[in-house]
Amino acid sequence: MPISYFNTKTVKKISEKILNTSKKKLDFNIRHISKESGGYISANPAVFDNIPNTISSKKVLREAIKGTPLIKFGDGGVSVMIISGIHGNELPPQIASLILINELENIPLNGTVYIIPFSAPKATMYNSRWFDSDDLNRVANIDGSLSNSIMKIIKELKIISVADFHSTAPNSNPGKEGIFCTMKPSPESYHIGKYISNKTHSEILSYDHAGSAYQGAIEDECNILNIPAVTCEVLCPNGSTTEEAYKKSLKQMKYFLSYFDIISFGG
Ligand SMILES: [Zn+2]
Repeated sequence: MPISYFNTKTVKKISEKILNTSKKKLDFNIRHISKESGGYISANPAVFDNIPNTISSKKVLREAIKGTPLIKFGDGGVSVMIISGIHGNELPPQIASLILINELENIPLNGTVYIIPFSAPKATMYNSRWFDSDDLNRVANIDGSLSNSIMKIIKELKIISVADFHSTAPNSNPGKEGIFCTMKPSPESYHIGKYISNKTHSEILSYDHAGSAYQGAIEDECNILNIPAVTCEVLCPNGSTTEEAYKKSLKQMKYFLSYFDIISFGG
């Protein structure tokens, strides 16, 4: 049933039933970046039907009702951040984040990994690119926007590198699987991009200077602050997913972590 057919009360009732789980202690920490952005991910079947049916997933989904969840794994070493759902209707990376969360619970980490699986759960719930009339990847430089709040957390936590995961529809821009990166002012952005590109056979989409095409993208704003960042794209129509697309997104995430030797993956 399309989401628009549900009233809020029905969504709440269904979600509470789905998410009613035991209070098992989990091996990761959750805090909220915003309390305005909460939404019922379980009301979006294209996401809900493709994420692992585990206590950990349900815990994350329950927290997403309250706002943008930030999940932390590991302690010490370098700290990196994985972001997905900056565009709520780009579903494969958000599914990949939940799979990654379930996998990272069970492996030792050589560093600290922060994951924002749903940047704006409310936008994901409604399969919308927009949150509060904002394209969150154009307003990260504007004080008070949700993506600017994410930038503040990145600085507060002393994150050394950020990867922002998206999907792109065929015949849109870029309309192909690829890794965006820039040479200046953070050349490591290019090296990270090149590494993920080589390992996943995603095209490298390298630009000269961060923020030269437009302002307010998370990747560019990080690179401008000398926090090397990349944007990883997989190909998939908006508001839907394929297994191939979320598996590829997951692969891009794992190679981002393996660039920093936080996990060992592949070869
Ligand atoms: Zn996007």
